Amino acid sequence: MYAVRLWSVRHAKGLNRFYKGFEKVLVALHPLWNRIGYDKVEKPFQVFEQATKGFLFDCQMCGQCALSSTGMSCPMNCPKTLRNGPCGGVRPNGNCEVKPEMKCVWVQGWAGAERMGDLAPIKDVQIQVDNRLKGRSSWLRVVRMTMKVGEFAPKPPKAPPAKKPEAAKPAAPGEGKAA
Ligand code: SF4
Repeated sequence: MYAVRLWSVRHAKGLNRFYKGFEKVLVALHPLWNRIGYDKVEKPFQVFEQATKGFLFDCQMCGQCALSSTGMSCPMNCPKTLRNGPCGGVRPNGNCEVKPEMKCVWVQGWAGAERMGDLAPIKDVQIQVDNRLKGRSSWLRVVRMTMKVGEFAPKPPKAPPAKKPEAAKPAAPGEGKAA
């Protein structure tokens, strides 16, 4: 809901602090998720994450949450889905070029980052969104990333390439002959 989204940006500092604590709890519960199975808990996580973040941030479940770096303003609500700052079309009143009735999510994001008291994360370059992760839980992904499980598990070292058998050297003239 748009009004709630704006409220969330106004309370970016408190929400980010809450999330950091929540994330620690999720990571500490890794043995539980591991015992149940990450694949099995994925669906309930998705439902819970969509319900809460959908309400607070109009979350689109991109699967790679950037809220902590974008002042609690979801970049996926930008009609151009820009993840690294505004386009050049922000209106003089700070509203969106495409949806004039809506505040630019990046103008909002900057205000949220200021409230969080740290402008460094919003200046980080966000990697391009990976649409294969759409619909998946970002929370669970952060746990897997932190605990290095699933796709984030360390890869076994590659075996060195097998040596090619040396070709037999041609015998030198006279070599091998009896004296
Ligand atoms: S960045 Fe992605 S996961 Fe985070 S609120 Fe926006 S759509 Fe949802």
